[in-house]
Formats: sequence, C-alpha cells, structure tokens
Amino acid sequence: MSTQRGNTARSRPQKHQNKSKFKNNLHDTSHKTKLINNIHVSDVCERCKEVIEWKIKYKKYKPLTQPKKCVKCEQKTVKKAYHVMCTECGKNLEVCTKCCQVKEVVPNVPDKHEEIKLDNELQQILQSLPERKRRTFIRYMNKTKNSEEKPEERQKDLASKLNKLNVDDKDSDIDFDEFDSDICDEDSES
Ligand SMILES: [Zn+2]
Ligand SMILES: [Zn+2]
Repeated sequence: MSTQRGNTARSRPQKHQNKSKFKNNLHDTSHKTKLINNIHVSDVCERCKEVIEWKIKYKKYKPLTQPKKCVKCEQKTVKKAYHVMCTECGKNLEVCTKCCQVKEVVPNVPDKHEEIKLDNELQQILQSLPERKRRTFIRYMNKTKNSEEKPEERQKDLASKLNKLNVDDKDSDIDFDEFDSDICDEDSES
C-alpha cells in the first residue's frame, strides 16, 4: 500500500521540479547586484570562469575593495576579485590569471560601460567642433578602434587629439596630416 502509516521515505521522484531558472536579482535590485551581474569574467581559463560565474550567480561574489598584489609582478595591479595575477602578467605568461596554469583564457571584451563613458565625455567637445574636424576625429577614432592600447590609454589619446582639434579651432588651415595621413582622399570614400 502506498499510504502506509509512518513511512515518510520518498520512493518516487520529486513531483514538482523547479521550472524557472534561478534568478539572483528577483528580490534584490540593488545597484551593487546589478553591477556584479554585469561583470564579464575574462583573462581566466574556462574552468575558473565557471567558478567565478557561479559565485556571481549565487551571490557569493565579493568584489575587491582595493587592488590586490599580483603574485607575479608583486604590484597592486589585480583589480578583479578571485584573480591572483594581473591582466598584464597573465598575457605575458599566457596563463590563467586565477589558477596560473598555462591554458587558453577567455579574452577580455571592451567594457561596454567604459565605451559609453568615453563617448559621453568626448561627445560634448565633439559636438562643439565644426563638421570637418568632427569627421577627422571620427575617422581617427575608427582607425584606432582595434588597437592594442588599453582603454585608459586610448581614452587619453583620443581626448588629447580632440582637445587639440578644439584648441586649434580658430585656425581653419589646421594641418590634418598630423592626425591622419590619408585624410585627403576624403572624397574617394562615400
Ligand atoms: Zn602582475
Ligand atoms: Zn584557471
């Protein structure tokens, strides 16, 4: 009989399986959780990536409050929680920056947040420029899009270029060659 008294041991499989996926922000819509959920785990191997993503998903992830010392160069250059090596050293040694093993790592994609910030910041100056200079700058920006430069370096570079264009505003015969040598074939492009 299935209704045997006192027998609480379950012999059938769980009737109601969890239908929806676990959501860590169901009751928590704080800014911090949002930020952590947006973290793109990179510069680590596939296995370490899973470990960190698991922590993010189940809210075990504790972001660093200040940069940590890199096990390789011993500088305070580790900015991501659970990583033990800085991105730079990881790249040079071609290892995972978490387990330090020679493995294929997940590449870093440019931080969207950073890109937007860069755009907004420069956008204002850009808007104040005459059309021609604006195009010069945009072309320069596109040209350097895939450069190996770090985002901060690139931002600095773009800002200085833009400022230069801005400062030279009154001089209509600005030397564009300084920025882009093939600037003259403007008409060959559509
Ligand atoms: Zn390092
Ligand atoms: Zn690893």
